[in-house]
Amino acid sequence: MVLKFYNSLSRELEVFTPINDGNVGLYTCGPTVYNYPHIGNYRAYIFADILKRTLLYAGYDVTHIMNITDIDDKTIRDSQKEGKTLKDFTEFYTQEFFVDRDALNILPANKYTKATEYIDEMIRVIEKLIEKGFAYKSDDGSVYFNIAKDPEYGKLTRLDLDAQKANAQGRIKSDEYEKDNVQDFALWKSYDATDGDVFWETALGKGHPGWHIECSAMSMKNLGEHFDIHTGGKDNMFPHHENEIAQSECATGKKFVNYWLHNEWLLVDGKKMAKSANNFYTLRDIEKKGYSPLVFRYLALQNSYRTPLNFTFESMDAAKEALNRLYGVFRELPSSDGTVDAIYQEKFKESIGNDLGIPQGIGLLWGLIKDEHINPENKRATILDFDRVLGLGFEKIGNEELPAEIEALKQEREIARNEKNWTRGDELRKNIEEKGYTVKDTEQGQVIYKN
Ligand code: AMP
Ligand code: ZN
Repeated sequence: MVLKFYNSLSRELEVFTPINDGNVGLYTCGPTVYNYPHIGNYRAYIFADILKRTLLYAGYDVTHIMNITDIDDKTIRDSQKEGKTLKDFTEFYTQEFFVDRDALNILPANKYTKATEYIDEMIRVIEKLIEKGFAYKSDDGSVYFNIAKDPEYGKLTRLDLDAQKANAQGRIKSDEYEKDNVQDFALWKSYDATDGDVFWETALGKGHPGWHIECSAMSMKNLGEHFDIHTGGKDNMFPHHENEIAQSECATGKKFVNYWLHNEWLLVDGKKMAKSANNFYTLRDIEKKGYSPLVFRYLALQNSYRTPLNFTFESMDAAKEALNRLYGVFRELPSSDGTVDAIYQEKFKESIGNDLGIPQGIGLLWGLIKDEHINPENKRATILDFDRVLGLGFEKIGNEELPAEIEALKQEREIARNEKNWTRGDELRKNIEEKGYTVKDTEQGQVIYKN
């Protein structure tokens, strides 16, 4: 199966060739655990999940590493506000992230690397950069990357350094800054009173790492100094990924990553969904409004990862209806063994292989569902095959566990039906339906599922 990806580095669609035959090293910039992620963040992780599932579908082994940023400017600031230790504060949001991940049917990474567990590795990369003359210590003891020493600095976003440096103020200690203010950036931040009890005593002095060095150290430690694919949202390109490339390549003298893939924004009213803009929804907000997390996944999959997606509740309603229709058709298919339809599978491979053409894949799924020439057993097998990539949870349809209360009503209705007590049977049906479930009487007995 041929895979082509749009590589942000070359700005071209490229045929994917892994460094090592059969195994792909994949790194995804993970959450900064200072709050619940919003669904814009989840668009980024659903995209990375689709990429990983596509690689697996194509027959590769994938080593997927995702970091957990549990030390940066925001985690320090907000843990102090709440009067909690950095560890307690970040551990809570890390666990909540895992709950959301499972609800969205995102496959777990092979390893989640916490930044606080890689301080030694970060120090070693920084020391190498100092040794090679790419980094220097400032008066306050912080260490900065000297962008003037790296002739390739800015190659991902194609910065016009000369024009931009005219505006630059020298160096920047904060993790986030704008493209028109390119600076020497902090690798190691010396301690100051605002850090409270968050610090490490190291060969570089007392302090904590900058955000960018975290991902360089964690990715290289787990995937090697040169690996296949790195993903993140579009905003990660500058300064985060630009700085990751500079640090890693100057430290090792090797090319860092072959393929850089970035997802576009989830928007609200035409603006990027962001915590700072206060225009965000968490997955919990969505669930409270009556949408299953997989409805959001379906909405995300209907759009190419490279086009902005405007979030509205009307589109969520449409996604909910579509997904329920798909589930409804699937439910009616016999569960006996079938074979995957080779023609549909070939078309599906072609679609997803072309820079993750998932919307086209979803189009094929609808075509398949309506295709009367495919026998029901094979239809079922082919849907389940597609779902290895789509992850819409078809394998659970028909085997859903019911809450005890509904299960009890189901049993009672079973007895009433066996006794041909149709009045009682109808009462119980109404009762179950009022609780938000659909009841169908099929040849195999009652089928009950949540609306
Ligand atoms: P953060 O926790 O802020 O580091 O963000 C985690 C991931 O979500 C990063 O890859 C971001 O680029 C991505 N991201 C943040 N906001 C959005 C958005 N509105 N749409 C899509 N991706 C986003
Ligand atoms: Zn990162």
